[in-house]
Amino acid sequence: MKITRQKHAKKHLGFFRNNFGVREPYQILLDGTFCQAALRGRIQLREQLPRYLMGETQLCTTRCVLKELETLGKDLYGAKLIAQKCQVRNCPHFKNPVSGSECLLSMVEEGNPHHYFVATQDQNLSMKVKKKPGVPLMFIIQNTIVLDKPSPKTIAFVKAVESGQLVSVHEKQSIKQLKEEKGLVKNPEQRRKKKHKKVSGPNPLSCLKKKKRAQDTKSSASEKKRKRKRIRNRSASKVLTEKQNAE
Ligand SMILES: [Zn+2]
Repeated sequence: MKITRQKHAKKHLGFFRNNFGVREPYQILLDGTFCQAALRGRIQLREQLPRYLMGETQLCTTRCVLKELETLGKDLYGAKLIAQKCQVRNCPHFKNPVSGSECLLSMVEEGNPHHYFVATQDQNLSMKVKKKPGVPLMFIIQNTIVLDKPSPKTIAFVKAVESGQLVSVHEKQSIKQLKEEKGLVKNPEQRRKKKHKKVSGPNPLSCLKKKKRAQDTKSSASEKKRKRKRIRNRSASKVLTEKQNAE
């Protein structure tokens, strides 16, 4: 049983490595529910996770998850201790903490650039994670750790990339690197220099003046009309004030 479980994990990991650039050390984001399940199943995450994934792992969590565990009190004391031993990764909720699940979901936004695995027992969070392509999902079932198979959304995404409809984030990064290496993309400093040259050129200002003069001569007729109108308006207002005065 154990061998087939590990074979599946190896296969799924290979898929994420090839298509999404997932690399060791595997960054595993834990939430409170996963810590609690590990505690109940007497699973030593630090020993078992690297063995199961056959590679170096880093257990990490966020401040929001820790905060949530603190507020949940004594029942989750053990889970809190496990979470506190994880590395704390920066999330965007420094001032206003959100729920653990909302926070972990935000950590894998925009193509999961840090290649996080999400480890949770929360069905609701799992569903949402599965809708984002390229996020490996882990959970504990019958006291064993499981790396879920790539979600249908993830597989569809890879197929779209293969058929040329999409470019994956991983590919974008390597394309950008290649371009920079071959000098196809100029770095920002060079761009700034170019802009400077354009501004210091002598011609544009003198050209502008000439244009203005040309426009002036053309529009002189219409300006005269405007003046006439203004005069009319003035006289009209005079008439009005005169009327008012008379009243
Ligand atoms: Zn957060």
